[in-house]
Amino acid sequence: MATKAASTRKRRLAGTAGQRQPRRQAARTAAKASVRRRRRQLASNPLLAAWTAPFELPPFDRIRSEHFGPAFDRALIENRAEIAAVAGQRAQPTFANTIVALEQSGRRLDRIGAVFFNLSGADTSPEIQEIERKLAPKLARHSMGIYQDGKLFRRVDRLMRRRKRLDLNQEQLRVLEAYHRAFIKAGAGLRTPARRRLAAIAEQLAKLATRFNQNVLADEQSFLMLLEERDLAGLPPSLRSAAAELAKARGLPGKYAVSLSRSSVEPFLQFSARRDLREKAFQAWISRGANGGKTDNRKLIAEILALRAERARLLGFNSAAAATLDASMAKTPTAVRELLMQVWRPAVKRALEERDALQATITAAGGNFELAAWDWRYYAEKVRKAKFDVDEAAIKPYLQLENIIAAAFAVAQRLFGIVASERKDLRLYHADARAFEIKDAGGRHLGLFVGDYYARPSKRSGAWMSGWRSQHRLDGDVRPLVVNVMNFTKGAPGEPTLISLDDARTLFHEFGHALHGLLSDVTYPRVSGTRVERDFVELPSQLYEHWLLEPTVLRQFARHHQTGKPMPAALVKRLQAARTFNQGFQSVEYLAAAIVDLDLHVLKHGKGLDVDRFERQTLAGLGMPEEIVMRHRIPHFQHIIGGYAAGYYSYIWSEVMDADAFQAFEETGDAFDRETARRLYETIYSAGGRRDPADAYMAFRGRAPTTDALLLKRGLTPAPA
Ligand SMILES: [Zn+2]
Repeated sequence: MATKAASTRKRRLAGTAGQRQPRRQAARTAAKASVRRRRRQLASNPLLAAWTAPFELPPFDRIRSEHFGPAFDRALIENRAEIAAVAGQRAQPTFANTIVALEQSGRRLDRIGAVFFNLSGADTSPEIQEIERKLAPKLARHSMGIYQDGKLFRRVDRLMRRRKRLDLNQEQLRVLEAYHRAFIKAGAGLRTPARRRLAAIAEQLAKLATRFNQNVLADEQSFLMLLEERDLAGLPPSLRSAAAELAKARGLPGKYAVSLSRSSVEPFLQFSARRDLREKAFQAWISRGANGGKTDNRKLIAEILALRAERARLLGFNSAAAATLDASMAKTPTAVRELLMQVWRPAVKRALEERDALQATITAAGGNFELAAWDWRYYAEKVRKAKFDVDEAAIKPYLQLENIIAAAFAVAQRLFGIVASERKDLRLYHADARAFEIKDAGGRHLGLFVGDYYARPSKRSGAWMSGWRSQHRLDGDVRPLVVNVMNFTKGAPGEPTLISLDDARTLFHEFGHALHGLLSDVTYPRVSGTRVERDFVELPSQLYEHWLLEPTVLRQFARHHQTGKPMPAALVKRLQAARTFNQGFQSVEYLAAAIVDLDLHVLKHGKGLDVDRFERQTLAGLGMPEEIVMRHRIPHFQHIIGGYAAGYYSYIWSEVMDADAFQAFEETGDAFDRETARRLYETIYSAGGRRDPADAYMAFRGRAPTTDALLLKRGLTPAPA
């Protein structure tokens, strides 16, 4: 309606002028004026202007949501022209005129996309969400237009066939293969009807995934459990003040609140003595995306699965899982299942033992009820205290966010020689985000790291790493701009933010990803930093978690927020001893989600799937303990929607390597052994995807990894088959 009214008005204005001019000329004048206006708008659009801020950071303070639409339109047109130029060349295809040219195209689109998608995850708004709903299918269409371009595919395909004779180095070969695979996955080699259908599926999937994620956020935003003073039984002081802060931030001073952000709800479940409130919070947490009404994701999931299965069939694969795994380290659904089941059996055995210990604690305390899912964390905390004398409430005062950030930097300095210094002069997209310049030991600029640590309603839940620019050397020495986004509960004003051990581990994890981006030292953007196989990408992040619990790290950085005293050596020792505590639960919680993800994506078709029943039956078939709920239930399982079909296993696939890789340090007797760290930098952290991941690992370790270290790390011994 709005557009129609506007155009009527324009015509009327033109008509007025036309009284003294011939009609056609008036129309031309009006058209010219409108072109000029559009040009002025584009010229004043900060997304399209040169970025002159330090490090060529995006001009965050000038970007408004209405700038995105026109900027994306312009960037898409430009990119189409670039692609047409590459595809339409007369010259025979060479690596330079085709692959390098593709690598150099789409820069503006990448830049604008990076700004937009960081905002849509970390600080969204109804306007951004509206743009995203329109944009997602548009981008999918654009991408399919490139990867289904027949002329372009023929060039890439010819190079691929002649690759042995092209005198390419290993990295160039990997880049060529990645492009070729992308064309094949888009159906470039198929007949027109199949290609058209694949393009339509891609667009539809982009729409559905956007809605899925927005629904989860809506369910998270709409829940807030308000508490009074009398409801706080069991909560330690740090948690009480965090709950008070949260209520205040939502405009309810004097009250206490728990949200569905993991760092709010999980500690509540650990400590609240109120079984009724635990149940209420837990039910809301596991029901995200399954509350009926407009934000319910269950029908969406079935549609997504059906489309993914159809896409796989068109591409000649048995299932969606087979299609994604084809380009992974694991290669096949069978290999994935084998690893998952190898850990599943001992994990369930351990979880059942843990359950019995929790039930015994309940009974001993005079409780006359059976352990339920919302009791697990609470009683586990009690058992841990009794068994290891480790008390989360006693650890937290030692874990100040500020110090854990410093610890993550310090570990990187010891391992890789890098130095971080905060830059308070830079303007970022939110007042809570902080920038750090990263330099190498010689003072050379390596990149910029941004940390955005606190939860807020405009932020998607979870934790992730992304960025605005990745490292490469195609147009000079381009350095990365990387961001870590987390969801910690902010401390009260004037008081430090205290985080849980789990949060600290998350911070190290994401910083491991950040290092993978920051230390990247490759030539081509296609294989830069974290652009590696999905089941390899968690190696640098999970490996980095190991250093958090190193005694020298804890002694230096885990300092009591009031006394400033380091964590007592005895507590550090007890923490180490309690490392494998509750690992049955954690393994089962994770593995169940990974197996359900795999099972969903080996389905022949998903149409009309009853998601609840499927989940119930799969878990029952596995022998899932009733007292444990899978880590991400299907209706809010964002990993498998935004990311990959059958991709959640990749954490444990990578863990086989990270557990084994950390042993390489332990074998030297020094967790910071120089030579091992140098090899790790060479083969993993700086190498991006320039070589096959299995080869990269071999180059680091001298042999392939085995699952022994993983089972040891989780305190699981293999059960007899
Ligand atoms: Zn990760």
